[in-house]
Amino acid sequence: MKLGFIEGANGVTGSRHVIQVGEHAVLRDCGLVQGRRKEAEVLNRNLGFDPGRLDAVVLSHAHIDHCGNLPSLTKAGYQGPIHATTATCDITKVMLKDAAHIQEQDAAYLNQKTSRKGLPEVEPLYTAADADVVNKLFVPHDYHQRIELAPGIVLEDYEAGHVLGSSLGRFELSAAGHTVTVGYAVDLGRRDLPLIRDPELMTGLDVLVMESTYGNRLHDDAREAPEQLRSVCAATLERGGKVLIPSFALERAQELLFHISSLMIQGKLPKVPVYLDSPMAAEISRVFDQSHDYMDEGFVEVQGEMICLLCPPWIQLSASVKQSKAVTASDEPCIVIAGSGMCEHGRIRHHLKHGIGNERNSIVLVGYQAAHTLGRRLEEHDPVVTIFGDEFSVKAEVTKLDAFSAHADRRDLLACVRASGASKVYLVHGEQDSREALAEAIQAEGLAEVVLPSRGEWYDLV
Ligand SMILES: [Zn+2]
Repeated sequence: MKLGFIEGANGVTGSRHVIQVGEHAVLRDCGLVQGRRKEAEVLNRNLGFDPGRLDAVVLSHAHIDHCGNLPSLTKAGYQGPIHATTATCDITKVMLKDAAHIQEQDAAYLNQKTSRKGLPEVEPLYTAADADVVNKLFVPHDYHQRIELAPGIVLEDYEAGHVLGSSLGRFELSAAGHTVTVGYAVDLGRRDLPLIRDPELMTGLDVLVMESTYGNRLHDDAREAPEQLRSVCAATLERGGKVLIPSFALERAQELLFHISSLMIQGKLPKVPVYLDSPMAAEISRVFDQSHDYMDEGFVEVQGEMICLLCPPWIQLSASVKQSKAVTASDEPCIVIAGSGMCEHGRIRHHLKHGIGNERNSIVLVGYQAAHTLGRRLEEHDPVVTIFGDEFSVKAEVTKLDAFSAHADRRDLLACVRASGASKVYLVHGEQDSREALAEAIQAEGLAEVVLPSRGEWYDLV
């Protein structure tokens, strides 16, 4: 029995793990590596394992750093099942369609340059047709269903509380009279997020593989999110400004719709137009609206008045570029939710370009802002930023709300280790300083032996 840490060990993208029992092997997640273009390109084109040896693939959730390289796997010849919860299957289809579109656009852009220089054509990493092949391999399941993935490898998924449909994987591995139970908490969510249920605790494990994104950080309580949001929106609308919110299309956009509509229904915010200016976020919101089985009681309680995330009359979808431009040009007090979450791509850049110089407006950051992104420069209150090659003075108020995060913090991660009973913990999916800080805390409490694997390393279990 072996665990392979193919990718996403000492870094937060490109999650790929292989579980091997004798001749049989299962891949957990096939994520896209994101970051510096050339380095990521190599790591995405080279899967790091032999796809021909896999019996099955299991998908933890629909974030692109966990599912975004599945089309490369099928391109390499994989034709077996891809197991995931029903909601994860539905959302992944939307995510991969968009990812394929980006890959095709990137290649077309590069080919404009290479053709001028007489260089050979660049092939996209994958196309929409490749993503369609993935869609045909999905085998949906429910939480706590026992699934034999291959001889000696049985899966039971637990609620991860990270995004809709996300799961923690409990794998029972058996061979030659030995049984080892391995839990994967990658990614692990947090308590009290709206819409989705709290994470479940896996118990009785021998080995735990766990993420460590925030191994050295504590978040504000998630229950403070609505009040943080109300405060900045109310002040901005009061002075006649626009609230511009860069948002990820999955989960964060739906949380925002839910909180804003709840505040409006309770009379805590005026019922101004709320523009969801992201066709992908709108499509994912529709999946949420059709997946009430996966929602928590908090949503079900207000459902009577909200009916669905996209139903309230103040929610406006900007499907076309023309509609988006009309919102950008207008100066009416309103709330705009648009991608991308770190302001690097997408329609939010047009809204920022038009609205960043107006001191009545607010830019509200509700997600992680990576280094070297426009979002990070705004978070650090740079007085002048560059958008589409032009410089703009930042006059709008910039606010970062710390209650929003879909990842477990240090306290939640330690609680996961304590409950698991595992004697060995592999920490993955974190920057090095975060992994080391968490490893120290686990060992200081005497909870378990801790291993910090590197990319491409394999460990024997028995
Ligand atoms: Zn995730």
